[in-house]
Amino acid sequence: MIIKKVDLLMTAGNKSQYPETDYPEVAFAGRSNVGKSSLINVLINRKRFARTSAKPGKTQTINFYSINDSQMLVDLPGYGYAKVSKKEREKWGKMIEEYLNDRDQLKDVILLVDIRHVPSQNDVLMYNWIRECGFEGYVVATKADKISKGKRQKHIADIRKALGIDDVRKIIPFSASDKLNRDAVWTKIKELSEK
Ligand code: GDP
Repeated sequence: MIIKKVDLLMTAGNKSQYPETDYPEVAFAGRSNVGKSSLINVLINRKRFARTSAKPGKTQTINFYSINDSQMLVDLPGYGYAKVSKKEREKWGKMIEEYLNDRDQLKDVILLVDIRHVPSQNDVLMYNWIRECGFEGYVVATKADKISKGKRQKHIADIRKALGIDDVRKIIPFSASDKLNRDAVWTKIKELSEK
C-alpha cells in the first residue's frame, strides 16, 4: 500500500460527529496499551500520527484516519483499565455499540491482542461481540518481536483456543518494531474493504 495522503478526519465522541464520507472503514479494537496506535502508525508510515495510549480519565473517542481519500482506518477506544468508573465504562460501551451497529461504511473490525498473553475475559467478550455483529473476526497479535520466533506458533495456538477461532489463518502476528506483516495486514484490510 502506497500512502500518499493521511488525514485525521474526526475524533468522534458520538454518532453525530462521524465523518460524512463513503470510504470503506476497517476498525481496530483492543485493550488500552495493546499497540493499536503503533499498528496504525506503521500502516500509514508515520512515526507518531495516531495518538499514543489514552490514559484513564482522558476523553475516549473514535478516531477516523482517511488514507489516500479512499480508505478509512478507525481507531476504537481501548478497554481494560481497572481504574475507570462505571459511568465511563458505560459510555465506552454505548459508543462502540452505536458505531458497530449503525455505521454502514464499516466493513469489518479487527481485534488486537498481545501475542505474549492468553486473551483476557474482556478480549473474549470483545471478540464475541465482533462476531455477533456478523464480522469475520480477524485478529492481529501484536508485539511479536517480544517473543522468540520458535514460540510464536504456540502463543498463536493459545489465542486461537481462548477466542474459539476456527481457522488459525485468522490470526496475524505483527510487530510495530520491525514492521512484521505490515503488508499482510494491509492486504487483509483491502480484502475486507471490498466485501
Ligand atoms: P494503544 O494504547 O493500543 O494505542 O497502544 P500503543 O500503540 O500506544 O502501544 C503501547 C505500548 O506498547 C507503547 O509503549 C509501544 O511502544 C509499545 N508497543 C506497541 N507495539 C509494539 C510492538 O510491536 N513491539 C514492541 N516491542 N512494543 C510495542
